[in-house]
Amino acid sequence: MLLSLESIGLKAKEMSTTIGVDIGGTKILALALSSEGKILLERRISSPPRSKGPGALFEGLEAVCKDLLSSLIDDGISDIGAVGIGAPGLIDRNGVMSYAPNLLGAVRVELRTELERRLEGIPVVVDNDATLATIAEHLLGAGGEALNLVMVTLGTGIGGGIVSDGKIRRGAHGFAGEVGHMVVVRDGILCTCGNHGCWEQYASGSALGRIGREAAVRGRAKAAVAIAGGDPTAVTGEHVTAAALDGDRDSIELLEEVGSWLGLGLSNLANLLDPDILVVGGGLIEAGELLLRPATATFQEMLEGGRMRPKPPIVAATLGERAGAIGAALIARENPPLSFS
Ligand SMILES: [Zn+2]
Repeated sequence: MLLSLESIGLKAKEMSTTIGVDIGGTKILALALSSEGKILLERRISSPPRSKGPGALFEGLEAVCKDLLSSLIDDGISDIGAVGIGAPGLIDRNGVMSYAPNLLGAVRVELRTELERRLEGIPVVVDNDATLATIAEHLLGAGGEALNLVMVTLGTGIGGGIVSDGKIRRGAHGFAGEVGHMVVVRDGILCTCGNHGCWEQYASGSALGRIGREAAVRGRAKAAVAIAGGDPTAVTGEHVTAAALDGDRDSIELLEEVGSWLGLGLSNLANLLDPDILVVGGGLIEAGELLLRPATATFQEMLEGGRMRPKPPIVAATLGERAGAIGAALIARENPPLSFS
């Protein structure tokens, strides 16, 4: 059932077809969502390399949005309301990307105004990618009826989103939920944000890739190395996950290590926010129970008074890699519709 945006404290105007775009570290996924919540069209392109800067990112976004818009119009769909964009990092309430360590680094990019200019006046809304994935999972996915939900997305980094007492939480500036940069090891591994010991250096897809390569150069995780084409230094989190799903013992152990770090961070979040449910999404959730089982074990061990309280379940997101783009399309309904002829 499609719950209303009002139910989580957002304002929605007239329902219309909207476009949602999720900017990831490796790919940009865009889709058109009907007013009934059905995916009408989908496009994906590779994210431009970080070295090419914001200009290349804007070109990619403009091309993918215009492609979807013209396809919709060709299909006779003219009630296109707005475009929603999800981006990693600190996105303020005016749609300015203030800081995106896993995408462009320390930049100030006027995402909303520049895209509205390029899309010739179509309203654009921009929000944090994990916040949008949380909205989508809460309304259409794994969230169920939960009024208190914490979501984490495990990919290049770790994004987070919070629904508290039924409302999506954005904080004073729109920056709430940057859980990947909670420091869990003082003076630990250097993070892309410049700090040391951030949670995403231990529990993300990138973290699995790092420990996978470390194991591989010591002669372990041979199945993952084989999937990587024989080069131990080319092993990624995806290779380790694929090998683990094939039953490779070393790779399963690597996922147990990352899963345990995941449980540690989730217990901190549950101590802070007391959720009904914790939802785990992003590319790394492809590992399924191989990740969630060790995460749940550590979580229950570390949660304050764990034996004396209800234990919130840790579940996999159900919208998969589309959660962010669906959330972006949903948030675009906050804008008034615009008609095309
Ligand atoms: Zn960090």
